Order: sequence, then structure tokens, then C-alpha cells
Amino acid sequence: MRALTWHGEQDVRIDEVPEPEIVNPTDAIIEITATAICGSDLHLYNGYMPGMREGDVLGHEPMGEVVEVGSEVETLEVGDRVVVPFTISCGSCWFCGHDLYSLCDNSNPNAEMASEVMGHSPAGLLGFSHMLGGYAGGQAEYLRVPYADVGPIKIESDLPDEQVLFLSDIFPTGFMAAENAEIEENDTVAVWGCGPVGQFAIQSAWMLGADRVIAIDRIPERLEMARDHGDAEIIHFEEDDVYDRLMSMTGNRGPDRCIDAVGTEAHGTGVMGLADQVKQEARLEDDRPHVLRQAIKCCRKGGTLSVPGVYIGRSDNLPFGSVMNKALTIKTGQTHVQRYLNPLLEKIEDGEIDPSFVISHQVGLEDGPEMYETFNNKEDDCIKVVMTP
Ligand code: NAD
Ligand code: ZN
Repeated sequence: MRALTWHGEQDVRIDEVPEPEIVNPTDAIIEITATAICGSDLHLYNGYMPGMREGDVLGHEPMGEVVEVGSEVETLEVGDRVVVPFTISCGSCWFCGHDLYSLCDNSNPNAEMASEVMGHSPAGLLGFSHMLGGYAGGQAEYLRVPYADVGPIKIESDLPDEQVLFLSDIFPTGFMAAENAEIEENDTVAVWGCGPVGQFAIQSAWMLGADRVIAIDRIPERLEMARDHGDAEIIHFEEDDVYDRLMSMTGNRGPDRCIDAVGTEAHGTGVMGLADQVKQEARLEDDRPHVLRQAIKCCRKGGTLSVPGVYIGRSDNLPFGSVMNKALTIKTGQTHVQRYLNPLLEKIEDGEIDPSFVISHQVGLEDGPEMYETFNNKEDDCIKVVMTP
């Protein structure tokens, strides 16, 4: 079959690879009908994620039709149409039992590798390096779905793929980001990053009762989407001083809730290789722009900082003294996608939201390598790429 594969920094190819097979009796195989490129894929594309190997199949935002099920799969049948969460979860460990699906204890067969770095291992993720399980991803014609009874959600209505596909990641991710921000009545919510995750964080902030939403980016079409579709007030971070603007917009108090929907690749931070990181950690001061540092500085005293943006390694150099003395709450993590599937599908079915608004490019799988480049460089008004194999 054809699949998009990783071959090193900024080198994604379309390759012929073996079709996936059932490995465990709880697996299913799906034939992909739609699959998206995520901002998280850019961390792999740019070579920031340890544990990638040449030929790894990319992709963690897939949906499709079940074509085979293992002998122990109970909830899915051949022919079912499903969206597959990027988080792989066993459904029976302590963490899954507490609705903490992205922290599943059993789904990363390479847990030792992750534990060495982090002390513990989070869940395995589809198409996201050997450190997080080494699972082949869904930017391909077929995908093996582990723990098929726990993750995939069946789509029984005739909603098109474009409207339900983002249940796999970015809609739940934006929603959990807003939930983690602990939004209360009359709150002003500031969202850094108007990529797909930021856009869904904006939508979700309104759903959870925000009074004002302020969106920050530098890409014109993304800021326009935040303003026109997201009803947000906007700040262009290269044209304006973000701290000064936020203070003047909030009577110097600062936004009550801050969401970092940017992560490790923040523009202007010059993300580093591991050797550079070690050098940087030795430095006390770091005045390069950095979303987390900026959000900590801007957030009102006693406010909440929610971080859906993905951080890798120790590239952040956080002013923890400010966090402590301003009594900030920080909440973060990979999304517990399974937790949000049913409630968010309901919102789509009820017409409360049509997630397809973020799609800027719909192409074939063979256009994937070019699309990675376009999406990475934020060219051609690219906001979200959906591919159909
Ligand atoms: P994206 O790359 O399309 O969007 C990032 C946006 O941030 C861009 O529009 C960019 O211009 C903007 N940006 C860069 N520097 C900035 C700065 N200094 N201030 C304000 N904005 C800035 O990516 P995306 O798909 O929207 O994903 C965003 C982040 O969310 C990524 O880090 C991704 O890995 C992460 N993510 C996390 C989860 C999760 O489970 N927690 C899931 C999906 C994605
Ligand atoms: Zn993603």
C-alpha cells in the first residue's frame, strides 16, 4: 500500500509499504477514507522528536472503514465507519479507569524509553515515534488500530468525513484546552496560536462560557479566521507588543485564562537540537520570545494557564518563580481523546459546530510530501490539510 513515511528532517516521502495485519486479537484494520496533517506532525517533520526511524509511517488523525477485526473485538464489525483517536488506550489500567486515556499504562510497548526521559511513560500514540510506541500511523491506505474496542467512535449518521474527522484529535484537543483553562463566567481568555488547535480552543472557550476571547498569531489568514469565524479580538504579535496590548485590553489585570496552542515550535524561539538545549539550560536568562514565558507574564494573578501545545525535552527555561508568586495554575497534557468523543460528536450532530471550517486544502495522499512543506511554512493560506488515499 502507499503511505507517507519519515526519512529525516524535512524529508517526508510517499512509499510503498506492507499492508498492516492483525497482531493482537484486540486489533482492527481500517481502510482510510480521510486523514489529516497536524501541527504535532511538524515536530516530527522538523526533527525535534526523539525515537523516529527512517521509513516510519506518519499520521494520527485518521478515519475510515473497518475491513478486518481481531477475534476479541466486540464493538466493531467489518463495514463500520469509524474515527480513530490519536491516543492509544487499553481501557483497563488505572489511568484509563480514571478517564486519563492519554496516560494509559499499557499502550506503549517502548515505555522504558519514555520512562528514562520522563520518569513514567504516557500512552502510545499513533504515528508518533518509537518513544511513544512505534505504531505505524494513518497517513496511509490502511491502518492497524490497537485496542479497537476502546478508541474508535462509530459514525452512524451520514455526516461527511470532513465534519467528523477532527474528533480524532484537534477538536477534543481545543476543547480540553478550554476545559483545562477553568473558564468561569465573565472571563477573558487569551489564546496564543491560531492554528487548527487554537481555532478549536477559541470555539470551545465560547462553548464553556468565556466573556471575551483574544487570539494571538502573526499569520494574517489565521488571525482573520480567529476574528471572523471565531469572534475573537486579535493581536498580531510581530506588529504589537503582546504584553502591552493585553494589559491595555484588560485594565492592566491580564487575561484570566491563557491557552498556549503553539508549543515547542513557537516562531522566533529558534527551537534547538539536543546539544543546543544543553547549552541553553546553562544560561540563566533567555530573552528570546517564548509563548509559555509570555503567557506566564501576561496571565492575571491567580489565573490559569492551559498548555495543549506540545513541548519536547527541556527547551523552555520557565520563570517558575513568577508562576509561584502569581499563584498560577498550569494544566497540560496530550488530550484524553476518548473522553470527548461522544459529547463532541453530539455537538456536531446538533449543528452547534461544523469543524470543517478549518480545512484549507483537500488533496490526495501523493500530495502529502508537498503539503507537509506548505503547512510547515504556513504558505498558500494553509491552515489544515486533509488527504484522501
Ligand atoms: P500549527 O503549527 O498549525 O499552529 C501553530 C500556530 O502558532 C501558527 O499559526 C503559528 O503562527 C503560531 N505561533 C507561532 N509562534 C507564535 C507566538 N510566538 N505567539 C503566538 N502564536 C505563535 O499547529 P496546530 O495544529 O494548531 O497545533 C498547535 C500545537 O498543539 C502544536 O504544538 C501541536 O503539537 C499541539 N497539539 C497538541 C495536542 C495535545 O494532545 N495536547 C494535540 C494536537 C496538537
Ligand atoms: Zn494531531
